[in-house]
Amino acid sequence: MKEQSLSIIIPVYNEEDNVLPLHQKITEALDSMGQPYEVIIVDDGSTDNTAQRLKELAKADNRLKVIHLRRNFGQTPAMMAGIDAATGDILIPMDGDLQNDPQDIPKLLAKLAEGYDVVSGWRKDRQDHPLKRNLPSRVANRLISFISGVHLHDYGCSLKAYRKAIIKGVKLYGEMHRFVPIYAAWQGAKVTEVGVTHYPRVHGVSKYGFDRTIKVILDLIVVKFLDKFAHKPMYLFGGFGLVTFLISFLLFGLMLYLKVFHNKSFIETPLPMAVTLFTLMGFMSIFMGLIAEILMRTYHESQNKPTYIVDRTRNCKDED
Ligand code: UDP
Ligand code: MG
Repeated sequence: MKEQSLSIIIPVYNEEDNVLPLHQKITEALDSMGQPYEVIIVDDGSTDNTAQRLKELAKADNRLKVIHLRRNFGQTPAMMAGIDAATGDILIPMDGDLQNDPQDIPKLLAKLAEGYDVVSGWRKDRQDHPLKRNLPSRVANRLISFISGVHLHDYGCSLKAYRKAIIKGVKLYGEMHRFVPIYAAWQGAKVTEVGVTHYPRVHGVSKYGFDRTIKVILDLIVVKFLDKFAHKPMYLFGGFGLVTFLISFLLFGLMLYLKVFHNKSFIETPLPMAVTLFTLMGFMSIFMGLIAEILMRTYHESQNKPTYIVDRTRNCKDED
């Protein structure tokens, strides 16, 4: 079998003191492995000297690909830019702040060789602020694991390894790079994790705080919704609408019952209000469901997006 080539993808934003040692560490680690590789550093609109340093590095090492984004788009889009440019068979994103260790790459590859499609790093001994970062992240990880049904300990670790076919074509939004293993698993990929080293940040500052946990949870809702209902939004909206109709019907019954048997006038209880509210909510949800159905059809039909994914074919065209 042809030797698999690697693409290391690193988004950086204001990491001027990290890019040189980073490049050195990566080169050391990968050269000793003897596998063909490329390194793609995406400069996510840095405002310090990062761009200049990268320019010099790229001049000296033509295996280093550098992509400068126009402005700061965020870690996920920057990673996406790297993924789009990658030509390797195995894609390995990592952080550019020296918190990940490129020496862990062989461990990830060994797992891929066992037959997995995605290997996620797990920072067993995470070196970030215990209260501000590690605790919320632990809670978020539990929640993601529970909701997604894909059981990993550390979705947020950037150091992961993907087979090309799994990640090419995936579109990432918001903070969603961490959910790629989940998408992949939902689509039938074999996903696992391995412990990786994590170092404290020495140069530069972290770009995130607590608000990221909230964004991650909101993204999780989107991901779950897209997985479950993107093809049939009416089942969610319409289902909710029917439930509210049922509630309003029951409350209406209660209202009549109180009137007839307990002689309570309609305006003595909040029931008429509740009945109106639930009925309205029911109509609104069903109409929203219909609109979502139209959007979904526009999405699939205008772009000729299939509603299935083929794993492989036999005796058809374009096989490898
Ligand atoms: N990063 C980026 N664009 C941003 C924010 C961060 O490319 O808008 C990069 C950053 O330079 C680093 C990686 O994403 O290489 C992870 O960021 P950071 O270390 O701040 O996150 P933490 O490790 O604290 O979760
Ligand atoms: Mg970091």
